[in-house]
Amino acid sequence: PSIAPMSLLDNLNPPQHAAVTIEPRHALVLAGAGSGKTRVLTTRMAWLIQTGQVSPHGLMAVTFTNKAAREMLTRISALLPINTRGMWIGTFHGLCNRMLRAHYRDAGLPQTFQILDTADQLSAIKRLLKGAGVDDEKYPPRQVQHFINAAKEEGLRHTEVEAYDSFNRQMVELYGMYDAQCQREGVVDFPELLLRCYELLTHNAPIREHYQHRFRHILVDEFQDTNRLQYRWLKLLAGGGAALFAVGDDDQSIYAFRGANVGNMAEFEREYAHERVIRLEQNYRSHGHILDAANTLIRNNSGRLGKNLWTDQGHGEPIRVYEALSDAQEAQWVIEEIRSLVGEGRLRREIAILYRSNAQSRVLEHALFSSGIPYKVYGGLRFFERQEVKHALAYLRLMENPHDDTAWMRVVNFPARGIGARTLEQQADIARLHNCSLYSAVSQVPGRGGNNLAQFASLVDRMRFETQNLPLHEIVDHVIEASGLIQHYLQEKEGAERIENLRELVNAAAAFAAEDGYGLADAGALAQTLPESGVELPSPLAAFLSHAALEAGDNQASEGQDAVQLMTVHAAKGLEFEAVFITGLEEGLFPHENSVLEQSGLEEERRLMYVAVTRARERLYLSFSQTRMLHGQTRYNMQSRFLSEVPEESLKWLTPRNGRAKAVDTAGGWGHAAWGDESERGGFSRPAKDAPYVGSSEGYSSRRTSDAGVEVNGRTFKVGQSVAHPKFGEGVIVSLMGSGQDAQVQVNFGGVGTKTLALAMAKLDPV
Ligand code: ATP
Ligand code: MG
Repeated sequence: PSIAPMSLLDNLNPPQHAAVTIEPRHALVLAGAGSGKTRVLTTRMAWLIQTGQVSPHGLMAVTFTNKAAREMLTRISALLPINTRGMWIGTFHGLCNRMLRAHYRDAGLPQTFQILDTADQLSAIKRLLKGAGVDDEKYPPRQVQHFINAAKEEGLRHTEVEAYDSFNRQMVELYGMYDAQCQREGVVDFPELLLRCYELLTHNAPIREHYQHRFRHILVDEFQDTNRLQYRWLKLLAGGGAALFAVGDDDQSIYAFRGANVGNMAEFEREYAHERVIRLEQNYRSHGHILDAANTLIRNNSGRLGKNLWTDQGHGEPIRVYEALSDAQEAQWVIEEIRSLVGEGRLRREIAILYRSNAQSRVLEHALFSSGIPYKVYGGLRFFERQEVKHALAYLRLMENPHDDTAWMRVVNFPARGIGARTLEQQADIARLHNCSLYSAVSQVPGRGGNNLAQFASLVDRMRFETQNLPLHEIVDHVIEASGLIQHYLQEKEGAERIENLRELVNAAAAFAAEDGYGLADAGALAQTLPESGVELPSPLAAFLSHAALEAGDNQASEGQDAVQLMTVHAAKGLEFEAVFITGLEEGLFPHENSVLEQSGLEEERRLMYVAVTRARERLYLSFSQTRMLHGQTRYNMQSRFLSEVPEESLKWLTPRNGRAKAVDTAGGWGHAAWGDESERGGFSRPAKDAPYVGSSEGYSSRRTSDAGVEVNGRTFKVGQSVAHPKFGEGVIVSLMGSGQDAQVQVNFGGVGTKTLALAMAKLDPV
């Protein structure tokens, strides 16, 4: 190969350079967080194209999220003046969907097949159990779902699953029935996308050979999180001599609970990569203290492939640790810190708040919202999963494929059109009897119910007819009106936001059409090499609907906005931010209570913590709270063991270490009501104390400021003193912590609740 112009390879260290330019054979880059794996992978793609070793359509790159795929496309366009449209860069699901769309007939699917997301799948399973008269206490729908998905992820059809007892036999039977139901309705769940695609490639030699021949290079990011089936799919595609280039970090394997198999890395090394394993050890992301914390923490795990990271960036700032009295106060503290970070000139989008489970985001969102700080939540309830959006999508799906029973059930009586449960049961019975879809059963439902059903069916048919030949976004626009959804939400008290989201769906459709999703662009080439396979383009609507089902949910329209980023640790994989808050570091929460009983579970949690810590570039904040409202209950938690697994020298406690936990057990300690925010939510079981603070708790009071008070900027503040704040009004100081520029004050502002403020920053005046 010719020598690439310097610019591409300029900013690489020697092992990175070696990885980017390695000969076109299988290779594995095994390296820790922030060492440049993704950068190497992207640069290699650009280098291969630029040096003419492969055309943009001759390589495939698998990323973990759609966001990552988009970023990769952006990076490549920045590196090379090429058109990235139609390149095969995406997630496993996205790429499989694309192949299935092109070869739907060979895959045994209707052209209009729809994708069931996890929630749709669950309701399809519930419907199945009900129809089959299966006791859903004995066979809980979620467990059935898990059983089916786990089997599919192992690549097993129901005929191939071994049933060793009667319970299992029933599960296997349900699996079979479920697949039959999906097939009848023309729908495909997430693991099915992969399995179906794998089977297509296995059984259909011309198609397999086409792709094997076409992709000369297959590059995989986050390889540690691939499952068995994904690995087999990759091996199959690479079977025609393609070079498989995988990058990963065993310490960041965090999807074992979903079937990911970190063993794939060792196996890949043994079978393919042999001597071509490259290790990167220099970390370019995080300052020293952060990296030290990550390295020390992960050393507590056993069976690692072993590596250490170093940085030449210096120690940087210590990691700040904060102990809150309540989740609300923790959120308040986060707000204050964000204000000062932004005050220092940082961009909001460079600040991330991470948590272990989605349920924790509500309190944080509430605090952000109240303080007017723009924020954006990733994961959680994603745009395409919102109720109103899913309703609109269900209408669109029915227009594509009226036999999609899940979509039918979702909107047949929404907005209400007088179709009752009895009518629907009758309809379901008829459909079962004739083994047909609900739509096909309509004409046989008697009486007024049957009439109403027929009207609904003709509404769907009419919408399809009326939108023929319209551009995608106009189809969506027509449907949200003609379905009655807009009208319905207009009458709802809190419908304004829902209407906004429906309008946003129109925008999303327009953006999608402009972008050319799912490589419609290169389907023409496919049709030429595989004429016998009858490649056809999916309709733009079908392509958009699969985009909606697969899109990791980010509402792209707001992607450019400067907003604080909220997400679970899982969703943060691969990303980086200048400042990161890891909140809720409590036993039972993080590590999660379901995990601590087993060593393997605990180690996975630790890897998750490792992922979280290594997202930060400059600032890292760790926080936990003594009490937390979760799932309607107040919990009293101990601080997470992970806090004690990071080196003390890297930490700076903002609250006294091991202080408050004691205080809570002391009868005369901290009166929770004084901390304000909890009382709003009620259900707080500790007795409220009138006196906000009684300085009796040992070990804490000794570390706290004495009665002499704290002097900051020439002013002295004392506990019990009245102060005024420009925004919160008048209040009473209930505690003081720290000294000098680090001093913090907690003020009870009465109606506004208690706020924790940095004395040096807060504009507090004694009154
Ligand atoms: P993770 O394991 O978290 O996915 P990674 O190994 O993929 O991390 P990257 O995201 O590729 O790491 O890189 C981390 C950061 O370091 C990025 O900001 C990247 O641009 C930067 N970086 C990587 N290599 C270099 C280099 N040689 N010189 C300067 N910056 C670099
Ligand atoms: Mg990466």
